Amino acid sequence: MFEYHAPKDLLQDKKILVTGAGDGIGRAAALMFAQYGATVILLGRTVSKLETVYDDIEDKGYAKPAIIPLNMEGAAEKDYDDVAVSIENEFGKLDGILHNAALLGSLTTLEQYEVPEWNKILQVNVTAPFMMTKALIPLLRLSEDASIIFTSSSVGRKGRAFWGAYSVSKFANEGMMQVLADELDDDQHNVRVNSINPGATRTNMRASAYPAENPVHNPTPEEIMPAYLYLMGEDSKGVTGKAFDAQTK
Ligand code: NDP
Repeated sequence: MFEYHAPKDLLQDKKILVTGAGDGIGRAAALMFAQYGATVILLGRTVSKLETVYDDIEDKGYAKPAIIPLNMEGAAEKDYDDVAVSIENEFGKLDGILHNAALLGSLTTLEQYEVPEWNKILQVNVTAPFMMTKALIPLLRLSEDASIIFTSSSVGRKGRAFWGAYSVSKFANEGMMQVLADELDDDQHNVRVNSINPGATRTNMRASAYPAENPVHNPTPEEIMPAYLYLMGEDSKGVTGKAFDAQTK
């Protein structure tokens, strides 16, 4: 596992947006960021799940979160501009984005891959985080120390048969991370951009991809959080354009 021991107040007063915050790794990250002091903005498509995470955060006495319902499959540029306006109105700036939401899609050959499904996976996994980042960069620039994390995969670093649009979308996330990191690597150095490959993690997505696998052999989302905390907090200041593995030492 990535080794990092976060100080208790690592994310004190930070405003952090987590996409796909209702389930799996995004849910764990939202709770963990809140535990370390952040005000978390919970974005996702299933409002009831976001409300459950909201209640968990409130019950634990962490900073009051916010919910932004958004289905990234159908959302257009205007919707992301609206997200930026509501974050600006409520918080005035943004200190972090965890681009976590993603769809797996079919595991089949490219020869068999259906074009509408291809478009859907690319929309949710690539175009949506692009539009969101574009809309939110001005708010990140207002932070003294901002971090953007893209979520990759082992098939976003080396292509593998049958992983189709999902694999291609994860390569695209690595590319977007590198392009953006280079563009934001200015004199202020206040916005860093990196990617994380979570590695096999006990979630619904993993279970869909490997239905025959015994899930207990994979770490829980909570267990892979050290890399996320490191990249979101100031201990990674100055680190940008790099690809991380949540489960590697
Ligand atoms: P889950 O499927 O458990 O969670 C994905 C989250 O994304 C859900 O909250 C889901 O919402 C949300 N989401 C999906 N589509 C949309 C959409 N159209 N609009 C808004 N939100 C959406 O996946 P994981 O937690 O396993 O995955 C998290 C990230 O980690 C993903 O980027 C995945 O590719 C990556 N990853 C995961 C690995 C693993 O082993 N688990 C390994 C490598 C990478 P809802 O709850 O409504 O379905």
